[in-house]
Amino acid sequence: MTKQLWIPDVIVKELPRGNDPDIVPVGAIFHVAVSEASSLYGDYLHRTDGVESTGYIRRDGTIEQYRPVTIRCDAQYDGNSFGWPTRHGFTSWETQGEAAGEWTSEQLAAIKRIIIWHHTEWAVPLRQAPAWNEAGFGYHALFERWNKSNHSCPGPDRIKQWHQLIVPELATLPLTVQHTGSTRVTEARAYLAQADRLLTAAIADGRTGAVKDARNAVRAALAAHPLPSR
Ligand SMILES: [Zn+2]
Repeated sequence: MTKQLWIPDVIVKELPRGNDPDIVPVGAIFHVAVSEASSLYGDYLHRTDGVESTGYIRRDGTIEQYRPVTIRCDAQYDGNSFGWPTRHGFTSWETQGEAAGEWTSEQLAAIKRIIIWHHTEWAVPLRQAPAWNEAGFGYHALFERWNKSNHSCPGPDRIKQWHQLIVPELATLPLTVQHTGSTRVTEARAYLAQADRLLTAAIADGRTGAVKDARNAVRAALAAHPLPSR
């Protein structure tokens, strides 16, 4: 199956790629734009320093995507791309808001949607990136190698949200995030299959009968509601 380059149901405003190389996306890094603009497209289009992001998340959760996830962005130093001969890199997502402040619940939902998509489409593991050059998800200031200018991006309150509201959910995100559009059924089935794998692993670790019951419930649901595969 050909991997998708654009997230479904987002506003596509493609920026010229300039001389940015191809990457294999290994995760996503989230920022704050320090801007209340509804779009960064015009700003990026007229900049001469080559800095740009994969996309932008408005306060209302609307996502704009500016380039395919397989083209390098230049917003996060060594997180932009690394590795040879196959160049890997993190996609880059700005969020509407000033330096101080929190992500809205709609922005948090959009962030989770972007994370899920990287997982289902590009097999990025559902975890915080364990190192600056290892697959996963994070925020700009998470690693010095991503943030050599030492910004606090995306700001202390959003970093707190990341650790309290996103990281703990990563393992169960596929079960909780609501999806829309044509991929929903396929994704739902993939998530159930993943839940089955997780629960099976938990049982193998010798955990309680409750886990076993949960697994049986998931299996029963899968058997009772067979869904077409893509
Ligand atoms: Zn940033």
